[in-house]
Amino acid sequence: MTAEPVIDQQGTPGAGALPVTVRASLSPSRAADFKTCPLLYRFRSIDRLPERPSVEQARGTLVHAVLERLFDLPSAGRTPDAAGDLVAPQWDRLVTEQPELAGLFDPDDEVGTAEFLRSAAALLQGYFAVEDPRRLEPAERESLISAVVDDELLIRGYLDRLDVAPDGALRVVDYKTGGAPREAFEARALFQLKFYALVLWRTRGVVPRVLRLLYLKDAEVCDYSPDADELLRFERTVVALWQAIEQATARQDFRPRPSRLCDWCNHQALCPSFGGTPPPFPDRSAAADPLRDARSRPATPGADE
Ligand code: SF4
Repeated sequence: MTAEPVIDQQGTPGAGALPVTVRASLSPSRAADFKTCPLLYRFRSIDRLPERPSVEQARGTLVHAVLERLFDLPSAGRTPDAAGDLVAPQWDRLVTEQPELAGLFDPDDEVGTAEFLRSAAALLQGYFAVEDPRRLEPAERESLISAVVDDELLIRGYLDRLDVAPDGALRVVDYKTGGAPREAFEARALFQLKFYALVLWRTRGVVPRVLRLLYLKDAEVCDYSPDADELLRFERTVVALWQAIEQATARQDFRPRPSRLCDWCNHQALCPSFGGTPPPFPDRSAAADPLRDARSRPATPGADE
């Protein structure tokens, strides 16, 4: 399924028709940025500094694309060989749609490109070690979901996959392709899944039975089952996080919070923790458009971790 502009399966209004009370939008990636490091949030969401995709991110984007297309095939045909056959055509499509990916490899470096495609195929083998897609019929793939919480905050994000059991139970599935140590990103991954669970609960009235992280590199599954009380607390956390973002924006005060994740940050050269100086805070009219995210598609699925 190709993602559509901001609208969910239950008719939650999209960005073109937001309820008049909605005045802000937050995705799990940007919320996690602020939690991780307020300055990182500023660089990405307010300064909107470009980030050159890394080979690892490109590999994640490619593997997500292959897994999405794999489920277009008849169930019996969803084999490892079929997934392998999708790798090169999907890479060609991605490079056409996102020219910045083409710059990752020298056009004459056929060996480097071939090795990259082989590494993506190897990650797909990790997928087949933990799931048999011939036995699955996902309800949704790469689907944009959204809900309004606290009457004025639009929360939304792209699910990698949603499975619905015959009894209506929901399972949210997220593919993790990164090579970074899992412990460095696991809290962020779980935060993202709870975010999706909250949206589904608020729009469908059903708490997802399982939040599933599939670690393709390690061929491991991590399942988590939230409950309604937990999602209620999580909702308060998200609203409080947004209020903290609003305060930081009003004060133009986004401080660095160094951590292990700095090793994966694109912006060390501008970060005071690494001897850099952030650019001047952007014009307030640009910085203070909290619905801007709701009007455009966020980062490529799978590309940010
Ligand atoms: S280098 Fe670290 S502290 Fe600085 S902006 Fe990036 S994540 Fe934050």
